Amino acid sequence: MIPLTEAQQVVLDRCAPLGTVTLPLVEALGCVTAGAVTAAEAVPAFDNTAMDGYAVRAADTASAPVTLEVVGTLAAGAAPERAVGASEAVRIMTGAPIPPGADAVIMVERTRALEGGGRVVAEASVPAGNHVRRAGEDLQAGTVVFQPGEVLQPAHVGVLAGLGIHAVEVVRRPRVGVVSTGDELVDGPEPLALGQVRDSNRYSLLSLVSEAGLEGVDLGLVRDDPEAIRAAIARGVETCDAVLTSGGVSMGDYDCVKVVLDEMGEMSWMQVAIKPAKPFAFGLVGGTPVFGLPGNTVSSMVSFELLARPALRQMMGHTQLHRPRVQATAAAPLRRRPDGKIHFARVVWSYSGGRYEVRSAGGQGSHQLSALAAANGLAVLADGHGAEPGDVVELIRLHEFSRGGWHR
Ligand code: AMP
Ligand code: MG
Repeated sequence: MIPLTEAQQVVLDRCAPLGTVTLPLVEALGCVTAGAVTAAEAVPAFDNTAMDGYAVRAADTASAPVTLEVVGTLAAGAAPERAVGASEAVRIMTGAPIPPGADAVIMVERTRALEGGGRVVAEASVPAGNHVRRAGEDLQAGTVVFQPGEVLQPAHVGVLAGLGIHAVEVVRRPRVGVVSTGDELVDGPEPLALGQVRDSNRYSLLSLVSEAGLEGVDLGLVRDDPEAIRAAIARGVETCDAVLTSGGVSMGDYDCVKVVLDEMGEMSWMQVAIKPAKPFAFGLVGGTPVFGLPGNTVSSMVSFELLARPALRQMMGHTQLHRPRVQATAAAPLRRRPDGKIHFARVVWSYSGGRYEVRSAGGQGSHQLSALAAANGLAVLADGHGAEPGDVVELIRLHEFSRGGWHR
């Protein structure tokens, strides 16, 4: 067996970032910038008001309360038609440009309109610059807004749109083909004959691919037949940037993914010192990374999480490849036996009283996928006897936003 970190390094060394592509803004979320982005204009583009109220000369309000002549109205989007003179005010709405002559805004709540709005009483004095948002206060023209390597989150997309930048150069999003292998597998809802198993890995893996912001390609379900497997993998490496296979990489008599991949490319066959997901294969077929994931339902997903996802993120230009780990306290026993492996237990975590607590999400067999569905994290159990209540373990939080965890 080899340590997980060694297996991860084998993979990462062979999965370089892809080339770049210019994407419309609406497709760029989650991608990584390939070049620097510079602001061609200032944001805001002009001095404007942060409040609904009156644009005034601050000096006029020094002896408040004071009555001012209202000489106009400026809605957001309107350009000032005249300047504000001494003892004058312009009614102004949030976002409208500060008219020439004015140097402050008095919010409407500090005023009292007279005679149907022709005059207004400023009831408080305001300093120069009051509620004025200066041009360039968010971004100055010429500023480098994003360096290469920036992950485009929703706020980044908003910043780009706010600058009138509607196409952005990013590292290409890998296309990832997924193929299931196994004579026992069936796709669809027909009743099962004895010995048949429904193909779930292709669906869970394509979902992981999609959740990771990658483009999934369904390469179908193939029999344990070398020719069929060869054809599916050949199609995958031609049309995709990476291929995931599930099943056929362990020690069984019909594990022919192994035989076929050895013929097609430079493969490394690994027994990784983890549970679940010990068997793992990786190599390049015609230069395209191929991940041979184990067939057990939980194993294939954990293998993706620990070995495929980091590499696919690297191909996409990310530098943070692994999910962050936090320390958590076992709220109930998480038992295991010593076997030289790190165990990744399916757990449910909650955060309360300033600490994470974990407990088992259910059956820990590598075929018990419902416990992974019930889990929102993986607890990392070092070789040994596991954790007793109160023991501290490392926790990998999965899909944090989609589940609530448990509460006492
Ligand atoms: P294998 O790695 O091909 O020996 O498969 C190990 C176990 O995982 C067997 O019980 C298979 O039936 C099961 N299995 C393999 N592929 C899938 C799949 N795509 N969906 C669900 N179970 C699978
Ligand atoms: Mg099989």
